[in-house]
Amino acid sequence: MTDETVADRGSVEIAEDLCKGCGLCLLACPVRVLVLAEHLNSYGYHPARYVGRGCTGCGVCYYACPEPAAITVYRREAAAARA
Ligand code: SF4
Ligand code: SF4
Repeated sequence: MTDETVADRGSVEIAEDLCKGCGLCLLACPVRVLVLAEHLNSYGYHPARYVGRGCTGCGVCYYACPEPAAITVYRREAAAARA
C-alpha cells in the first residue's frame, strides 16, 4: 500500500505533555503515520507525533494509548460524499 492509496479521512492531535513516549500508538497504527518526535516534552519524553498525512481516523491509536486524553482523533465527514 502506498501513501497515494490512503485517503486522509482523519487526523490526530497529540497532547505532547500527556504523552509518555511509550510508542504503543506507533505500533498500533495500521497505516504507520505516527512517529516519536526528536524533541523532548516537559517531562523528558519523546512525544508521539503525527506525520501530517495518511490518517484514516480509525481510532486504534486512541484505544492503544494508556494515557487518557493524550490522543484526540478527528474523523472527517465525507465532504464529497456520494449522494
Ligand atoms: S486514527 Fe488510526 S490511522 Fe489515524 S493515527 Fe490513529 S491509528 Fe493511525
Ligand atoms: S501510546 Fe500514548 S503515551 Fe504512548 S507514545 Fe502514543 S500518545 Fe504517547
